[in-house]
Amino acid sequence: MSNTDSKPTLSSSRDCPEVDGRPMLQRVVARQTEVGGIPVARALPTRERRTIGAWCFLDHAGPVVFAGGEQGMQVGPHPHTGLQTFTWMIAGEVLHRDSLGSKQVIRPGEVNLMTAGWGIAHTEESMPASRELHAVQLWIALPWADRETSPRFDHYPYLPRWEEQGARVTLLTGHYGDHNAPTIAFSPLIGMELRHARGGRFTMPVRPDYEYGLMVLEGTFEVDGERIAANELAYFGQGRPDIAFDAPPGGLALLLGGEPLHEELLMWWNFVGYDKADIARAQYDWEVRGERFGDVPGHDGERLMPPPIPWKRADV
Ligand code: MN
Repeated sequence: MSNTDSKPTLSSSRDCPEVDGRPMLQRVVARQTEVGGIPVARALPTRERRTIGAWCFLDHAGPVVFAGGEQGMQVGPHPHTGLQTFTWMIAGEVLHRDSLGSKQVIRPGEVNLMTAGWGIAHTEESMPASRELHAVQLWIALPWADRETSPRFDHYPYLPRWEEQGARVTLLTGHYGDHNAPTIAFSPLIGMELRHARGGRFTMPVRPDYEYGLMVLEGTFEVDGERIAANELAYFGQGRPDIAFDAPPGGLALLLGGEPLHEELLMWWNFVGYDKADIARAQYDWEVRGERFGDVPGHDGERLMPPPIPWKRADV
């Protein structure tokens, strides 16, 4: 997906709230926006919360059913650097193409993971026969040492899946108990989907070095006595002995965690990095249509263009 905010902000990771040295439950209401013709709720980055571990962007797309004649999601060629885009499909079918020549349809229960590193361009389009869309797209900031790694694209049709405490759990990335996700990660990270058909309490152990958040996708959950509705993110911070919440019947949520970033992260348009000059250079390379990003074979749609860099050249 593409970040088309009219007023993008630079993002800092040094803002974990605490009360008397203990982590405070922070509620983040996702803001409604639009990507490629699809309504999305964006929970990261927001003013209140920029990152959870290296997770630095969270768009909840849909659920939406397309009316006759509607094309569904249509995101034209656009670049990324310094991040991985992590797409988790819940309903619908989307075709991914990129400048490496990858062409991959993603279906429910599958992950598309695009490692942008030095630079890649891609497109995302609903399949013509697909009349609905429900998905989550997350971005994962690459660590400083890997920020310019070679771009690659990986598709994962199978993820570890099990029943626990009445919930159906899918491990999207990282490790949980004896379960190990196959998805390539560059930093200590976890992502889990929890579906609770009947509803009930879910308690999970945590790593003390991770911060955690629960993104509610469907239903209203209860966390620390607070009701967390769909498209709200409950941020747990770091240092809890465990995480516990009550899921409603039919509840659907993502549990995200990771080691807090050590460096200040910069996010501008579809670029992630640690240095304004690097981001300005990436934007220049896209604008002049240089070899760095290349074209997306098979897609002749209009390339998406960024707004002007919001800082003065002298700042670089
Ligand atoms: Mn994208």
